[in-house]
Parts: sequence; C-alpha cells; structure tokens
Amino acid sequence: MTDTIAENTVASVHYTGTLPDSGEVFDSSEGRDPLTFLVGHKQMIPGFEEEMMGAKVGERRTFTLEPERAYGQRMEDAVQNIEREQFGDITPEVGMMLMSDIGPFTVTAVDEKLVEVDFNHQLAGESLEFSVEVVEIRAATEEELAHGHAHGPGGHHH
Ligand code: ZN
Repeated sequence: MTDTIAENTVASVHYTGTLPDSGEVFDSSEGRDPLTFLVGHKQMIPGFEEEMMGAKVGERRTFTLEPERAYGQRMEDAVQNIEREQFGDITPEVGMMLMSDIGPFTVTAVDEKLVEVDFNHQLAGESLEFSVEVVEIRAATEEELAHGHAHGPGGHHH
C-alpha cells in the first residue's frame, strides 16, 4: 500500500512553514520542486512526519509543532565566546552563519577581541506552523532504504 504516507514510503510535498506569533514565513517550497523525503528515517523533524502519517495524495494538512517536536528548546550553553583571531581571514559580522567542526553557528555579537556565537538551530525554541500538501507518494527502493534518504527529483543525487 503506497497511497498514504507511511514508514518506508517516499513522499513529495509542497509546504509552507510560518512562525505563528509573527506570521513570518521561514521556509516554503513555493516556486520550487516539492520536497521529497524518505518517511521514517529521520530526514525530517519528528513532528512533521507524525502529523503527515496516513495523508493521501492531494490532501492538505495544517498543524503547529511545539519546539519539542520541531528543533528543540534553545540551550544557553550553546552560546559561546570565541577569540576573534580564531576566525582567521573571515571578518565576523552579526548575523553571519558559518560552519565549524562541531556544526553550524550564527554570529550574535562582535567586539574587538571576542565574537559571541550561537550553536542553537535558528528555529530552536520556536513553535512552527506548517501547511503541507501531498503531491506524490511511492514505495521506497531498496537502495533508498539502505541509504536512509530519497533519491531522484527533490531528493539526493549521487
Ligand atoms: Zn543515496
């Protein structure tokens, strides 16, 4: 049965994510290919899959996820001060997003010696509202199940 979203299916969806407090759209597939993901393999934040289980092609669902089912709560010890000279050739500026050995971070403050950086996901601590429309559902291939992600349009290419 592959006419509803279930574990080990590959789902393609159009979605818009908004912050319920401000109405700001933080992400959307509008004007792009639908998002394609392998269900049940941690490709998506947990609540997104939970809310879409059992949905059929053409069905639209709207739901709000508390931080626990989205990107988690903010952790204050994920905010750290780093010596400016550690940045080498990069001139750190507030709002800049950079990659490090232990993951991505955002620059939140800069002074002459120190740079304050935040390793929290930018959506940590936020409730997220999603409006999702199912475009296509198919069974996953053996290869996709082995890799733990969807292939083809909207998925991984390699
Ligand atoms: Zn793969």
